[in-house]
Amino acid sequence: MLPEEKEILVTRASMPSYEEFIEEIKPIWDTAWMTNMGEFHNRLNEGLKEYLKVSNLILFVNGHMALEMALQAMNLTGEVITTPFSFASTAHAIVRNNLTPVFCDIKEDDYTIDADKIEELITDRTAAIVPVHVYGAVCDVEKIEAIARKYHLKVIYDAAHAFGEEVNGRGVGTFGDASMFSFHATKVFNTIEGGAVAFHDPSLEILLNYLKNFGITGKESVEYIGGNAKMNEFQAAMGLCNLRHVDENIEKRKKAAEEYRSRLSGVPGIRLMDEKPGVRYNYAYFPVAFEGFTLTRNQVYDLLAQHHIFARKYFYPLIPDFDCYKEQFAGARVPVARKAAENVLTLPLYGELLVEEADRICDIILNAGRRESL
Ligand SMILES: *Cc1c(COP(=O)(O)O)cnc(C)c1O
Repeated sequence: MLPEEKEILVTRASMPSYEEFIEEIKPIWDTAWMTNMGEFHNRLNEGLKEYLKVSNLILFVNGHMALEMALQAMNLTGEVITTPFSFASTAHAIVRNNLTPVFCDIKEDDYTIDADKIEELITDRTAAIVPVHVYGAVCDVEKIEAIARKYHLKVIYDAAHAFGEEVNGRGVGTFGDASMFSFHATKVFNTIEGGAVAFHDPSLEILLNYLKNFGITGKESVEYIGGNAKMNEFQAAMGLCNLRHVDENIEKRKKAAEEYRSRLSGVPGIRLMDEKPGVRYNYAYFPVAFEGFTLTRNQVYDLLAQHHIFARKYFYPLIPDFDCYKEQFAGARVPVARKAAENVLTLPLYGELLVEEADRICDIILNAGRRESL
């Protein structure tokens, strides 16, 4: 392969140096304490509370279980209004809690739930809203809060994409009743696999801790039907290492994202996600909508793949169109989300992506666009 033909995947996990990680995990051989809320787990929990600017936080084995158990802790029944434009986890967490998802359409400018369309979906069975800060775009948190207050609904954010983001200096995890963060290898900050729930009501702490450990409440008592969702010490050690480098990593992502933005903004038929003032973004993803461009989204995807560049049709298909849901939900009226699922491509973006690589990706897209339009 020519150097310029180096394979580029949509993301690449950030890792500390081998030496840094080995040094970090050495003490585990002295204590032989590998899981069950050990020292590393507790240090990471404190470190993340500070970094995320939240007062209450509990670590989990992964983001999905964090979301499932956050919903379980709210003790809900009935319907949950959510977005169809997300990763499978969001809807699965709702359904696996015996709740019924009700899909609300999204906004064209940043792909988050359209808060103006939530109220018309509320029934006397509605218990909660589960919005997603998709691609790191912050939801309309104020409107959502007003609706939740008016109808006495819980709000649990899927903040899997929003690690470290702030709105006017306030941690994104402080909005709503709870927020789930994912620390999966592909996310901005990782603990290999991992996740956390940030929450508003401090009394939830005890319950969430029980739920992630089988609902065991004492040596001879089990009071809740919990599961096993504890973060182990090796995961936490990876997190402690990665936390030292996350700001630098976000800075590097920002450089690549800014390169994409400067090359692609204003190109006819290409629409970039809106950035709002006052938000500290983490540059988790770079979604591009091809709407009336000389190539369709699928053509751009194929073209990049020919150059060994693997972008992603993230999120296609739409959740209500999944095989496991389509019988029940394919009729959901979510035209904006459907259009996004057809038109959006997320371009490769990670800390080690070079500005020159971002540039080459733009060259390929823009040159093909020009050729086709001749
Ligand atoms: C990654 C992700 C999850 C699940 O997190 P895991 O840590 O992989 O379990 C949930 N929702 C969204 C939107 C995600 O991207």
